[in-house]
Amino acid sequence: MKGLQEALLGWYRENPRLLPWRGEKDPYRILVAEVLLQQTRTAQAIPYYHRFLARFPSLKALREAPLEEVLKAWQGAGYYRRALHLHRLAQEVEALPQGYAELLGLPGLGPYTAAAVASLAFGERVAAVDGNVRRVLSRLLAWENPSPQRLWRLAQDLMPPGEAPGEWNQALMDLGATVCLPRRPLCSRCPVAAFCQGRADPGRYPGARKRKVREEALAALVLWGREGVYLEKLEGRFAGLYGVPLMPPEDLPARARAFGVEPRFAGEVRHALTHRRLRVEVHVAPWEGAACRREQLVDPGEKPLPKLMEKVLRQAQAFLAHEGILPLPHAKAHRIKPFQPD
Ligand code: SF4
Repeated sequence: MKGLQEALLGWYRENPRLLPWRGEKDPYRILVAEVLLQQTRTAQAIPYYHRFLARFPSLKALREAPLEEVLKAWQGAGYYRRALHLHRLAQEVEALPQGYAELLGLPGLGPYTAAAVASLAFGERVAAVDGNVRRVLSRLLAWENPSPQRLWRLAQDLMPPGEAPGEWNQALMDLGATVCLPRRPLCSRCPVAAFCQGRADPGRYPGARKRKVREEALAALVLWGREGVYLEKLEGRFAGLYGVPLMPPEDLPARARAFGVEPRFAGEVRHALTHRRLRVEVHVAPWEGAACRREQLVDPGEKPLPKLMEKVLRQAQAFLAHEGILPLPHAKAHRIKPFQPD
C-alpha cells in the first residue's frame, strides 16, 4: 500500500491540475467550487465559480442577497437546486462548521461534498469519493459493482498517514480526471499501473450504474406582447425560478381558454434532466385584449430562468421571426437558432 501511496502522491505533486480553487483554504470558496462540480464539468464550472464569488464573496454576502439574485447568478450552470441549497445554508449557519459530521447535515451537502470541504479546508482525515475516485478505485481492485460504503471504506483505508488528507483526495480525483479516463484510460502513463488489478480490462470496472430515465411530454405556452412575455414562478423541480406556463399537453386547451388565447404550435424542444427526458411542445400566442394583464408581461432577461425555458423562448422567438411577427423582447440575449419548419 505504501508503494501505491508514494507513487500517486509523487505524481500528483509533479502534475497537479491548475484549477482556481487549488490551494484554497477558505471553506466557503471550497464549498462553492465543490457544489458547482457536483453536476457541472470542470472547464464549464470555472467561469461560474469566478462570477458567483465576485458577486457573493462570503457566506455573509450570500446570506444577505435575495434568492432571486442568487439564482440569476447561477443561471446557465443548471441544476438550480444547488443554488437554492447554498442560499438556504447561508441562512442556517454564521460560518461553516469544521467537522465532516456537522457539514453533512447542511442543505445540499452529501458525503462527497462534506468530505471535500472537511479535508481540503480543515485537514480532516476523511475520504471524498466522487465519480472519478469511484472509477479509479474500482479499477485498482477490479471491483465490478462496489457499493458506495465499500468504496468509501477502501478510500479511507488507502489514505496515507501523516499526509495532508485534502492533497490525497485531490490526487485520486486528478488521476481519474486526467489519466484513468472513463473510455480510454492512459494506463501506459499511469503512476499506479503496477498496483492495478483491473488494468487488463479497465472498461469492465466499475460496471455501469443502471439509471432509469423516463420520457415526459409537456406543453409550454408562450404569451407575448410588446412589453414582454408572461412569466410565472415555477414550482416542483424548478422551484424559485421563472418560466412560461408548463403543463401536460392535454391541459393546454383549458389553460389557453383561461388566458383567452388561441395558441399556434411553434415547434418542439428536448431537454434532459437527471432521471427524465423532456419533450416540450412550444405554443405561442399574442396576449392582448381584455384578458391581458400587461403588468404581468416581463422581460425574460431580468428573471432567473432554467435552461429549459431558455430553449422554449428561443424556439418561440425563431418561430415568430420566421413568421415575420414581432420578435420577443430581449431576443438578443437568447441566441436564436433559425426556425426549421417541419
Ligand atoms: S492502470 Fe489504467 S485502469 Fe489502472 S488505475 Fe491506472 S489508468 Fe486506471
